[in-house]
Amino acid sequence: MDCIFCKIIAGEIPSKKVYEDEHVLAFEDISPRAPVHILLIPKEHIVSAAEINGENSAYVAKIFEVIPKIAEQMGVKESGFRVVTNCGASAGQSVMHLHFHLLGGRSFSWPPG
Ligand code: 5GP
Ligand code: ZN
Repeated sequence: MDCIFCKIIAGEIPSKKVYEDEHVLAFEDISPRAPVHILLIPKEHIVSAAEINGENSAYVAKIFEVIPKIAEQMGVKESGFRVVTNCGASAGQSVMHLHFHLLGGRSFSWPPG
């Protein structure tokens, strides 16, 4: 399958991993938008948040269990952080494998642009 994140999971493309277990991989974004910018992905190819259902939602729960651990590890648990998933090209999704951005280390405006 021609998916960058599946290749990262398979080790075919290198990444700076910060966390890995049976279901979840987290690694540094190659083009960080904040001092802390981590991507969390399921180890199953789910295209986007639009494809989450009763069969695969456990991956999302697992990812959200990992988020506080990584936030602590990266030193942003107390200072605050943002979790974002872009769904579809018009929302800014460029890699069609479900991922959550964990961003921290600076302040963020709301609402987003
Ligand atoms: P999206 O735009 O789909 O929400 O987010 C995709 C993210 O993946 C972008 O922030 C982009 O910088 C990151 N990205 C794309 N290709 C690679 C890669 O090969 N390695 C890593 N570590 N990040 C990547
Ligand atoms: Zn994939």
